[in-house]
Amino acid sequence: MRLNSKPHVLVLGGNFAGLTTARFIRERCKDDVQITLIDRKPYLIFIPNIPIEVFSNHDPAETLHMPIVRVLEKDNTRFIQGEVKEIDIKGNRVAYTPTERPGAAAESIGYDYLVVALGARLAYDKIEGFGKYGHTLSDSYYGNKLRTYLFGGGYKGGPIAIGSARFHQGIKGKPNWLPVAEAACEGPPLEIALSLASWLEEHRLGGAKKITLFTPAKVIAEDAGEAIVTKFLEIAGKMGFGYKNNTQDIKLVTEEGIQFTNGESLEAELKIILPNWEPHPFMKGIPIVDEAGFVITDQLMRNPDYPNVLAVGDSAAVTVPKLGALGHTEAEVAAKQIAKDFGRIGAEEADKPFRPAVFCIGDMGHAKGFYIHSDTWYGGKLSVFKMGHTFYAMKLAFKEMYYRTGGKIPSWGIPLSELVADTLV
Ligand SMILES: Cc1cc2nc3c(=O)[nH]c(=O)nc-3n(C[C@H](O)[C@H](O)[C@H](O)COP(=O)(O)OP(=O)(O)OC[C@H]3O[C@@H](n4cnc5c(N)ncnc54)[C@H](O)[C@@H]3O)c2cc1C
Repeated sequence: MRLNSKPHVLVLGGNFAGLTTARFIRERCKDDVQITLIDRKPYLIFIPNIPIEVFSNHDPAETLHMPIVRVLEKDNTRFIQGEVKEIDIKGNRVAYTPTERPGAAAESIGYDYLVVALGARLAYDKIEGFGKYGHTLSDSYYGNKLRTYLFGGGYKGGPIAIGSARFHQGIKGKPNWLPVAEAACEGPPLEIALSLASWLEEHRLGGAKKITLFTPAKVIAEDAGEAIVTKFLEIAGKMGFGYKNNTQDIKLVTEEGIQFTNGESLEAELKIILPNWEPHPFMKGIPIVDEAGFVITDQLMRNPDYPNVLAVGDSAAVTVPKLGALGHTEAEVAAKQIAKDFGRIGAEEADKPFRPAVFCIGDMGHAKGFYIHSDTWYGGKLSVFKMGHTFYAMKLAFKEMYYRTGGKIPSWGIPLSELVADTLV
């Protein structure tokens, strides 16, 4: 389908990375391009705030679903609610099936530029026993399941295990500066452990001593850098948290606890798990991906073999760890690349490469938060770790700013919070 004679930019995925990229492309390219965005659902889920909402007994489906259709409409970006089924890289086409009602017939759409922002499949279904005995906080369904368990009297006060399954990162095309991670995203386990300890205290059910953090890696949250992790483990140890590292992977989740592939196990009544971030099955083996199925890009977010194909967010191979903050930075880079092609900006401005830094603001309960900003894992020198009430307020304010701007947080959004947190607090 060719909508009109203007070049067509097709964005796949409308959560953090896809929505932001589509909006930045429109801002920078004005009416030089027609833009279409496909997502299976017409709203964004504000994933980082699911734990905060659940521990406050709020339904994340009510508080964290941001409709995207009106926002896109205002940008003159066409939205298709459909399930992407196949990407034909050589033929410049994407096959999809509309998802509003079951029974829709398959269709396809052509593109001049493709932006892949489809995130990843959170592979809970590959963890034996998870469906029956596991909990997590990565979407509204699982958030509400844990909320019902905690606030509905399901939790009986027993031990709690929080941690990750093994992440399988691709190596093909990996730049030398990018380390290999054994867990996809370990900010959430830290945040969940700290805020759940506060929740236990507030509900007179104990505190940090009930909770053991586990990781498949040598150290938890290694991407935050050695200095920060050492400090975190010192603080967490003093608070009473248990800690188990080198678990390798999760073998089995049972009613009694978790068995790991290194032969060890953890007794736990409540098991909160972050799984492997896996590429979608239809991504595997196509000409733009690594052996895992993540899209290979350079630091300008273009695929080296197909420069009209860009990838941002969790579906890009260089996004490690799988952090929304990295996807946001990549969205700006990708939009500038397309704007450069239309002569809207010069190479000097557009060709500033993506430079990763771990940026995380986490809830700790009791209206406090922690702040991590570090690039030492990638060879840099930035290493900031702070805690306090300011960061809790910043976490809430960031979501408000995101909603108010419809996902187009001004480019100063993150630098401003960096300035406040890195220098003034
Ligand atoms: C509990 C938790 C807390 C987190 N906290 C933080 C945090 O504090 N800070 C931070 O930076 N990051 C955090 N993250 C990570 C962050 O959520 C992800 O990095 C971010 O969501 C990635 O954005 P994305 O747009 O690339 O992918 P996603 O958010 O996964 O979005 C992908 C989109 O593609 C759509 N899609 C997928 N497949 C198809 C298909 N076949 N057809 C059509 N549409 C499809 C989906 O519906 C979705 O809208 C957290 C993650 C978790 C689980």
